[in-house]
Amino acid sequence: MISTNIEEVKNSIENACRKCGRDPASVKLIAVSKTKPAESVKEAYECGCRSFGENYVQELIQKYDELPKDIEWHMIGHLQRNKVKYVIGKVSLIHSVDSLRLAQEINDRSAKTGIVTDILAEVNVSEEENKYGFAPDEVSEFAFQMPDLKNIRLKGLMTSAPFVTDPEENRRFFKILRELSVDIDKKNIDNVMMKELSMGMTGDYKVAVEEGATMVRVGTAIFGARDYGGIS
Ligand SMILES: *Cc1c(COP(=O)(O)O)cnc(C)c1O
Repeated sequence: MISTNIEEVKNSIENACRKCGRDPASVKLIAVSKTKPAESVKEAYECGCRSFGENYVQELIQKYDELPKDIEWHMIGHLQRNKVKYVIGKVSLIHSVDSLRLAQEINDRSAKTGIVTDILAEVNVSEEENKYGFAPDEVSEFAFQMPDLKNIRLKGLMTSAPFVTDPEENRRFFKILRELSVDIDKKNIDNVMMKELSMGMTGDYKVAVEEGATMVRVGTAIFGARDYGGIS
């Protein structure tokens, strides 16, 4: 079942790319495996998936330890500063950087380990109150701090659009994120490469691809509905 789901998602990404003249190879599918057992990740791995997204530090570390080492782990959930030390060196990209203090902690921990960690700035483009992320007008100020932080690299922007029944409603938010990225890129800031746009989930990834997503984070369409069993 996971294998047919992956095929379907990949086909949809290819169709969305064809529709707007993009190369399907320019979109990375991140299989969001939060709350799902390691066996499900393994099943997706056997279908060729190598990029997985997790929201919770402890779960990410457990799966990291258990599963093949050629997996790229993406931290996509809210990250507390006191947990940064556990993920440094294990994640290939932290999508959910939403404050300068968090970025500084990732930088300091990376310096101690002697590595450079790639990050994205999370933007609350829909300006929902209960959502993490920089306000759209705060992001460039954040980007201007990057030249001082030598052990992180800002590679782009990330957003989670609202849950909607018609994905077309989210198109405007994806456009805003892309425009922000273009604006920041023009400033030619040292240590900032606006290369990645992480946007689009099960309900809206096709629209996100049409609007320029380079990474889509798809959980439910691959692994089925999640059962949080008390964690949230
Ligand atoms: C859970 C989650 C996803 C995947 O959501 P689906 O709707 O299951 O595809 C993507 N991004 C983030 C930040 C998430 O928390």
